[in-house]
Amino acid sequence: MLLTEDHLSRSGFQLASRCSICGVSSESTDHLFLHCPLVVALWEAVFSAFQQCVSAETWQSFFLQAMSVSFSEQVRILWKVAIHTVIWGVWTARNQWIFEGKSVDFRSILSLVWRAVSEANRLDIDCMHNCMDDLLILRCFGLQGCPSKAPVIKSVIWSPPAPGWIKVNTDGADMGSLGFGGCGGIFQNYRAFVKGCFAIPLGQVFAFEAELLAASLAIDFA
Ligand SMILES: [Zn+2]
Repeated sequence: MLLTEDHLSRSGFQLASRCSICGVSSESTDHLFLHCPLVVALWEAVFSAFQQCVSAETWQSFFLQAMSVSFSEQVRILWKVAIHTVIWGVWTARNQWIFEGKSVDFRSILSLVWRAVSEANRLDIDCMHNCMDDLLILRCFGLQGCPSKAPVIKSVIWSPPAPGWIKVNTDGADMGSLGFGGCGGIFQNYRAFVKGCFAIPLGQVFAFEAELLAASLAIDFA
């Protein structure tokens, strides 16, 4: 828990509560990190760079929403660094004003955020999505992207069986290492005419079980 003035007064400390940053409203966690005009301007600058819009009435729901925004791996790290640096910058600036009399400088908090994001991008981080949105976000911070590798495309050619024979091709798959899966198969003659097929949901299975069941069912159907 942060010892903002509303928390201190609830704990019995008698204070004339006033926000150290704007000097207008009383200081609560919601005001200090969410509603204070200077902090609103900081969030707007960060959200504009990340092309996001997060709004909430309370600080907790704002933070939870911000942490659940979906990005590519590379941008997600930078986003989290930016959010945490704003919070840290505001809290530090508030304490410097109270304990050292230093006035709060919007620009220095913002440049701290930009520096932190830039340093985070030098770490060994994962890839961006190869899209314009990510490029624009990274360009806003003057950063290099880490593009995803191009997918390897392999050609798979079906070859027909000898005349008079029927060929069956089967497959099985699941979602996750143990997840909902299914299997299927298709029977074709040497002219590629479909002579029969099956597709069966299997419930919770491992991928190898789905593959095995597909082959086993194909033998049964044959
Ligand atoms: Zn304020």
